[in-house]
Amino acid sequence: MSNLRHLICAAQCGAPTFNPNVEQHLCVCGSPLFAEYDLETLSHTWQKKSLAGRISSLWRYREVLPIDEKQEPVSLGEGFTPLLRSPHLERELDIRTIHVKDESINPTNSFKARGLSVAVTRARDLGARILSVPSAGNAANALAAYAAQAGLLAEVFLPSDIKKPFIKECELYGANITLVDGVITDAGREAARLCSENDWYDVSTLKEPYRLEGKKTLAYEVAEQLHWTLPDWMIYPTGGGTGIVGMWKALSELKNLGWLPKGLSPKFVSVQAENCAPIVKAFHSKKTIAPSWPNARTIADGLRVPKGIGDFLILKVLRESNGTAVAVSDEEMISGMLELGVREGISAAPEGGATLAALKSLRSQNMIKKDDHVVLFNTGGALKYLELLSVYPDRLTNKTGRTSLIKSPE
Ligand SMILES: *Cc1c(COP(=O)(O)O)cnc(C)c1O
Ligand SMILES: [Zn+2]
Repeated sequence: MSNLRHLICAAQCGAPTFNPNVEQHLCVCGSPLFAEYDLETLSHTWQKKSLAGRISSLWRYREVLPIDEKQEPVSLGEGFTPLLRSPHLERELDIRTIHVKDESINPTNSFKARGLSVAVTRARDLGARILSVPSAGNAANALAAYAAQAGLLAEVFLPSDIKKPFIKECELYGANITLVDGVITDAGREAARLCSENDWYDVSTLKEPYRLEGKKTLAYEVAEQLHWTLPDWMIYPTGGGTGIVGMWKALSELKNLGWLPKGLSPKFVSVQAENCAPIVKAFHSKKTIAPSWPNARTIADGLRVPKGIGDFLILKVLRESNGTAVAVSDEEMISGMLELGVREGISAAPEGGATLAALKSLRSQNMIKKDDHVVLFNTGGALKYLELLSVYPDRLTNKTGRTSLIKSPE
């Protein structure tokens, strides 16, 4: 038995609840589905102090994950990542507390590992054999790794201009790869077609309910690591939005469990790229959905998402939390990446660099104040993106990051 009770429509369209013991994807209205647990019972039976000494992975919160007591999860040690204090940035930006939630150390180097560990576990338990995903890179790598561990087959669909390391890493885990000209939504179209023709299990972002469950553990961890308090701001690089929506869901669960006070909430900030900013534009023009962004362009593959099916949920979280949305340039992302590296020793993907760029922008407008507590989400590591460091070589000064060669004597 797990504590999972049913699935509900995230848009609250009025459809009856869905049975979680069979494969489910979207609501009849086309919206994502959310998993609901028996939090009422858990609020009496499950205590924070039971977490002490548990496994250092996201599965330490298994009471609120979709897995039976007797099952073993498909796990590679994902989650329970460090929440790092960043003293140099605090001094530079004159902000009391800045933490970086460092997701770069997850299996396959990004926070996508969280979602895929949980989704692959659930897919396996529901009897799936072949799992399919369209991806900008990291989700494909994570699916490939977890499918390998589960003994299942991964079919991944990637934009054809994807950086080499993402393809090689999929090959490393034995996934079948299809390259599609265009962006992730084009890869998504081809994946959807082949998925329904072949009856594969679709693990696209928000098109099955359990990747979100893995992502939500980010907020369980931040709350636990801050001893059941929350920061003033959570700054998150937003593509499909599972991170933000998942964390919002987690905070609501934590309040229903009685582990966090009811009124408490951080302000959520969505960061997107200047040339692919559907959420930023919709937020500032007070729309409740985000129209597809034409000609989406950015070096941050995880942010090159012109349209997501969870757009209305992301916008709701930003508004209900009194947060905001910020667009940053590719150049600022790379500077942010380098600054996290040079000043804090953190390996950041451009998406992680983007959160620092957004923090600087909000600080300079004095929206973020001196006494605030900020958490930046470094959603992935730098290794698969190192070629980007040569795009703006002047950012690497002669003082640091210098390379010398001493030739061997004749
Ligand atoms: C996928 C991805 C994102 C965007 O994540 P969502 O939660 O789906 O918005 C951000 N950063 C990296 C490194 C990613 O791989
Ligand atoms: Zn619905």
